[in-house]
Amino acid sequence: MQAAIVTVGDELLAGETIDTNATWLAEQLVARGVDIQRITTVPDRVADIARVVNEHHAEYDVVLTTGGLGPTHDDRTMAGVAAAFGRSLEPNDDALSWLETHGGYARNDLTAGTTKLPAGAQPLHNEVGVAPGCILDSVYVLPGVPEEMKAMFERIEADFSGPRTHVTTVTADEPESALLDRLEALRDQFDVTVGSYPGEYVRVKIRGQDESAVDEAARWLTERVVTA
Ligand code: ATP
Ligand code: MG
Repeated sequence: MQAAIVTVGDELLAGETIDTNATWLAEQLVARGVDIQRITTVPDRVADIARVVNEHHAEYDVVLTTGGLGPTHDDRTMAGVAAAFGRSLEPNDDALSWLETHGGYARNDLTAGTTKLPAGAQPLHNEVGVAPGCILDSVYVLPGVPEEMKAMFERIEADFSGPRTHVTTVTADEPESALLDRLEALRDQFDVTVGSYPGEYVRVKIRGQDESAVDEAARWLTERVVTA
C-alpha cells in the first residue's frame, strides 16, 4: 500500500511549528507495512490543499492529512478536500449528534461550520478535541493537534495492516565512505533495504519484511564493522 501524508498549515511553512505529525504518522504507517511515497506540507489555502489532495489521491492508495480542521478562518482543510472531489461542504448530522451526546454541546453552542464535512464523507469523531475528521474515499482527514490526531489514528489504524516492516540499527564507528563496500555486500546478500545515516557515528538501518533476514543481515554486518 502506497501512501502520501499532507500536513496543512502556514505555521509549519513558517518554521514556527515542527511537523511532528508527519514523522509520527510515517513511523506508525511504515511499521504497519505502508510505503510512504510523499510527505507534503501546504499552506492554509483551499486551492493548494485541493490540488495536492487531488494529485496524491490519483497517484497513491491512501492519503492522510492533518491540520486545519477547526472552525476558524485559517482552518481550510475540509473545504480543500471537498474541492478536491468536486463536492460541497455540508453540515454532517452524525458528527453533530455525536458532539451533542459526547461533548454535551447544544447545536447552537457549536461554532458555525465545526461539523461541516464534504458531502458523503464518513465522520471520524474527535475523542480529545471538538472538530471531527473524516474519511472520503481513501482520503483520511485528521486534526492538527497531535493528541487529537493520535487518538483519531487509533480509530483507523486497522485500515493499515500490510506486512510489517522490521528494522534493526547497527551503529558503526567508522567513516561512512569506508563502509560503502560492506553496505553493498550486505544489500547483495540479504533481502533487505539498507540506509546509512552519518552523525557522530554512522547508523546503518536495515529494513525488511522477513524478520530473520533482517536479524541475519545485522549479525553479518556487526561482525564486519567497528561498532560504537
Ligand atoms: P483546532 O481545531 O484546535 O484549530 P486543527 O485541527 O484546526 O485544530 P490546526 O489549527 O492546524 O489544527 O493546528 C492546531 C495546533 O496543532 C497548531 O497550533 C500546532 O500547535 C499543532 N499542529 C498542527 N499541525 C501540526 C503538525 N503537523 N505537527 C505538529 N503539530 C501540529
Ligand atoms: Mg485550527
